[in-house]
Amino acid sequence: MATYDDNNIFARILRGEIPCQRLYEDEFALAFPDIKPQAPCHVLVIPKGKYVSATDFGAKAKPEEITGFYRAVSLVAEKLGVAESGYRLIANAGPDSRQEVPHFHVHILGGHRLGAMLVAP
Ligand code: 5GP
Repeated sequence: MATYDDNNIFARILRGEIPCQRLYEDEFALAFPDIKPQAPCHVLVIPKGKYVSATDFGAKAKPEEITGFYRAVSLVAEKLGVAESGYRLIANAGPDSRQEVPHFHVHILGGHRLGAMLVAP
């Protein structure tokens, strides 16, 4: 597992060094719009803790961090108005997924009918 890079973009957003629109924040999570939206609603939710990926988070986060994070994801989906209409949660993890930012995050994508799941190269 890669070691956590304290200078990754999302670590810098958490520290307030890079601006973002803070749509939701609590002790476990921060949600903000993706800078390059791929759907009418495209929001990122990140944990406050230092985890490289979904794998790292699932393996090392405390149970309260995991619960708190996924509760925040649900709250954000409600707040964005996509909980009923539907949305897709994506967590890229590692090179084959093309994960760009090495701080665990989920993408909430919705706001219209999404295309098929992408698995092709
Ligand atoms: P990944 O490929 O790692 O799952 O997704 C990283 C996402 O972060 C991309 O969708 C990219 O557009 C987004 N992103 C990268 N840099 C920034 C930034 O500085 N601000 C925001 N709001 N999003 C960013």
